[in-house]
Amino acid sequence: MNDMPRTSGADPAAAQAAALAACWSCRGPVDPASLFCATCKAVQPPAPIDHFARLGLPRAFEMKVPVLEQLYFGFQRQLHPDRFAGAPAKARQISQSQAVAFNEAYETLKDPLARATYLLKISGAPIEGEGAHTIHDTGLLDEQMERREALFEAGDLATVEAIATAAREDAKAAIGAIGGAFARGDLAAARIETLRLKYLVKLGEEARARRARLGAAGTA
Ligand SMILES: [Zn+2]
Repeated sequence: MNDMPRTSGADPAAAQAAALAACWSCRGPVDPASLFCATCKAVQPPAPIDHFARLGLPRAFEMKVPVLEQLYFGFQRQLHPDRFAGAPAKARQISQSQAVAFNEAYETLKDPLARATYLLKISGAPIEGEGAHTIHDTGLLDEQMERREALFEAGDLATVEAIATAAREDAKAAIGAIGGAFARGDLAAARIETLRLKYLVKLGEEARARRARLGAAGTA
């Protein structure tokens, strides 16, 4: 494929996407998605690919976390600093940026809320920033504000505990609903359930903080 003549009239973006990159070390052709040059074995810089592709996973919400971990730790073993102890400074630097890229991919994909948020973003239906304002048309905001008010007014641990438990159960249900929505390609529903999950995670954090304060006051 790399033997194909390059014509000056070719679309540069398309050519770049299809083309093999040149190894920084030996100038040989490398698949941009591979970690190492097949010719000289030099580590290659992170390719501009999404987190799923980086870890070799299909672009889907459903995720088997043990599989994700196995893939992630496999890549991190290949990038372990000890392996680059005697390597040129540039190779050490590239291996570190690869490690950072894999770390970011892993942290994003292992957490359901971060994974759903990211998947919506790369699917063109972000919950944050531009294009995300339509969520105010739903009753979601009112529903979550009522819960936060109840938490704010809760004066004892049992009430806070009950709110935290409900938030946890509802978060589980939201994760199930997000999976179903993505599986049937319903991005609108996936967005609403992801926002619901975001509110529920935040509510859970607030409940924990409130519980800690009430607990501290109780033992004082
Ligand atoms: Zn090379």
